[in-house]
Amino acid sequence: MMLNLQFYSPEEEVFYPVFEQKNIRLFVKRDDLIHPFISGNKWRKLKYNLLKASANQQNHLVTFGGAYSNHLLATAAAGSKFGFKTTAFVRGEEVNNSLLSLCKIHGMHLIFTSRDAYKNKKQLFDEHFSHNPKAYFIDEGGAGKEAELGCREIITELKQNYDYIFCAAGTGTTSAGIINAIDLNKLDSIFVMVPVLKGGIFLKNDIEPLLINNSNYLLLDQYHFGGYAKTTPELIQFIKDFTSKTGILLDPVYTGKAMFAIQDLAQQDFFKANSKILMIHTGGIFGILGMLDKF
Ligand SMILES: *Cc1c(COP(=O)(O)O)cnc(C)c1O
Repeated sequence: MMLNLQFYSPEEEVFYPVFEQKNIRLFVKRDDLIHPFISGNKWRKLKYNLLKASANQQNHLVTFGGAYSNHLLATAAAGSKFGFKTTAFVRGEEVNNSLLSLCKIHGMHLIFTSRDAYKNKKQLFDEHFSHNPKAYFIDEGGAGKEAELGCREIITELKQNYDYIFCAAGTGTTSAGIINAIDLNKLDSIFVMVPVLKGGIFLKNDIEPLLINNSNYLLLDQYHFGGYAKTTPELIQFIKDFTSKTGILLDPVYTGKAMFAIQDLAQQDFFKANSKILMIHTGGIFGILGMLDKF
């Protein structure tokens, strides 16, 4: 199988009042433009998994996620595009929603799994696929070494240098790839990780095994807005304002929180004048469709 893995993700300068007032330049790495459903960092995390499966002659991707997982939809859409069968173990009792419908349209087979059984993913895989040499295991959220490797390319593709690079974090795998690439390429950029869940400081421990060196980076744990997938009127108001003035759509779960952090720090004069800041737009735009009633 030939995989054509060329995708479009430009770096764009974006103009928004607070940055202009403070003489700061904001750029966005548009990983959201990679694909409507294999979006952003989920593509980065899948890429080396697809290459490995393909090299092993395995044509059936088997993965795991919750009923609203961007990773499930990305895997379904990547499977149909690149000629893999796809199966997902979905956490919890059977439900239907627009994300799962899109997974099914892309040909993904869904197996709803009790929360208890879901905890042991290797066992689930073995129970259903140990007899099937064509099946390739991809962990929940695409996590793993291949994912970290793919995320390094967000940095190696960059065409200019930045003082700060910001990214929203869930598991921190994407951040680990970014930190490693900054380190390996000896860039001066300061990486700032914005956890979207409460207690995000623990991500430091989670990503440590993925880091090549003991690199410096910042983790800001005050921009979770109540926790994973939680929002506040202030966050929603900011997303509306930002999108209406820039044309760049942010989602309330990940990218909205990261961009909020950047503008909040700019307001507080955290950045020196003439700083260049890059926000990694990790995609996830589909997530906004389930939350439109908040806007
Ligand atoms: C999954 C996801 C993230 C989180 O990535 P991690 O590698 O788990 O930190 C960030 N942004 C978007 C849009 C996502 O879908």
